Amino acid sequence: MDEVLNNVLFDAFADASDSVYIYVTDIKTGHTRWSQNAVDFFDIPKESFEDTPSVWPKKIHPDDIDTYIKDISSVYEGKTNHHNCQYRAKNKFGKYVWIQCNGTMMYDENGEKSVFAGMMTRLDKQSKYDEVTGLPTKNEFYSADISGFNGTIMLLGIDKFKRVINDFGYRYSEELLAKIVKKLCNMLKSEQKVYYFLNDKFIIILPNYSKKQTFELFDNIKSMAKYVETIDGNIIDFSVSASAIELIDNTLDNDSIIDRLDMTLTYVKSNDRGNIRFYSETIEGKQLRLETVKKELNESINNNFEGFELFYQPWINARGKEILGCEALLRWKGKTIKDSNPMEFIPILEENGKIIEVGRWVMETAMKQQSEWKKKYGNFKVSFNVSYRQFLEKGYVENLLETSKKYGVENGDMVLELTESCKVDTPERLAEIFTEIRKNGFKIALDDFGTGYASMEMLKKLPADNIKIEHSFVREIALDGHTVDLAIIKSIINLCNMLKCRVIVEGVENKEVDDIIRGLEPDYLQGYYYSRPICKPEFEKMLEDNCR
Ligand code: C2E
Ligand code: CA
Repeated sequence: MDEVLNNVLFDAFADASDSVYIYVTDIKTGHTRWSQNAVDFFDIPKESFEDTPSVWPKKIHPDDIDTYIKDISSVYEGKTNHHNCQYRAKNKFGKYVWIQCNGTMMYDENGEKSVFAGMMTRLDKQSKYDEVTGLPTKNEFYSADISGFNGTIMLLGIDKFKRVINDFGYRYSEELLAKIVKKLCNMLKSEQKVYYFLNDKFIIILPNYSKKQTFELFDNIKSMAKYVETIDGNIIDFSVSASAIELIDNTLDNDSIIDRLDMTLTYVKSNDRGNIRFYSETIEGKQLRLETVKKELNESINNNFEGFELFYQPWINARGKEILGCEALLRWKGKTIKDSNPMEFIPILEENGKIIEVGRWVMETAMKQQSEWKKKYGNFKVSFNVSYRQFLEKGYVENLLETSKKYGVENGDMVLELTESCKVDTPERLAEIFTEIRKNGFKIALDDFGTGYASMEMLKKLPADNIKIEHSFVREIALDGHTVDLAIIKSIINLCNMLKCRVIVEGVENKEVDDIIRGLEPDYLQGYYYSRPICKPEFEKMLEDNCR
């Protein structure tokens, strides 16, 4: 059997490619031999002598191990002669790479298994050129030598290309992509090279380019992308965003360059879409924080909402001084992030959809709290914030009813505040949901009222019980130059009186503002002058003082 393992053909094949690895096993002894390139790349011993192979399975990605075991077992159990599967294996750098693994079981003259041999092909090394655009792939960029490079490198992304795929389908989108690439290549000089990065992104190498030249080129690409003719003669207006990095006698490796460009492009796409930004440590810092916040938010959610807490801010009777209720405001602390505020973490939850789960927790906690306080302190309203997309979630109303039943809450004591009402794009659907919710006795408040020109439109279309006037209007009302703000508040209050809507004025920060606002006769006041949002024990102390 040694001839098989030490065959010259083995050495010849083993040496033939840097992305194909070969192996052979003597089934009777368990003696396995790998090609030298596999030994080097995967950091495995050149030979192993085991009945049951254990070296290789340890290299396989945990998510892929079952697929591998299933396939290889059917070969060892004699159900098939061929091993054929794709999985990820860890290389010497600790990175997983996709490989295609093929092998054949050979039998001796007695029909017994004798040799198992085959090869593993690295899939990431295979395609040098992208089929659709004809551009060299990112693997080519990874293996390009750019040490000592001077100039800039740009990562160009087509905005919302996924939507084009959804609207027109893959085939059509691919043709459009190829068209854009052709136009792009025509704009570039011969020494400037483009690589296809991923989906809708391209790496452009610009030797000896300054930042200024890079900005100019981006502007030209932007204008070019505005007029892309489709196969059927229509013009599509694409928006593009880009990140870039300036390199002088480059010492960074290709991986780090891509990481920086990709991170910066992600930042541009969510903060400055349609523009170009150069990599900076500030952007990197912001992106790293965002990723940490996202990660720790998920950990908290998976850990039974550990780190989430509700704070409470009182609603004061505008015709007296007593506390009539409160708004529940979400707070969160992660494992390392201790200073995140709702303006940071709520939009993240809204974007990744986790606001649905967290919103249910908020609803449940607020209702539980209301029933507890009502028993202790008598009549008391609690409001909580609900994002637009939460209302639209299937089963929202049912969940609301179940939860109020569970805690024995009187529905009329709960107020649901629709945050960012200016973002509502299907008011008709939302109006139906509001009607259903109000039919069951709950109250609805339109939050942040007065901001965004759509407010009045929303008031017309959405049935609501309360209007909350945005604090940014109110805070500085006592200072000079705020006559228009005052007029707006006055007219909102008048309008609400006519519509029999209650008005809550937020942002009452000091006595002067309090005096002015009380003069306008709204229903409730909320603001730092009375109390900042505070934790449950502090709020209870305030309620007790208030009751005495
Ligand atoms: P919002 O609903 O408009 O909440 C009022 C915000 O104004 C609160 O900020 C509150 O602390 C602040 N505020 C109250 N009185 C004053 C004042 O006198 N002066 C000033 N300058 N500010 C005042 P917070 O707690 O940081 O919440 C920010 C936003 O986060 C909320 O705005 C709301 O849109 C959102 N949010 C908070 N909790 C939740 C939640 O449970 N679910 C959802 N979907 N959104 C929430
Ligand atoms: Ca609110």
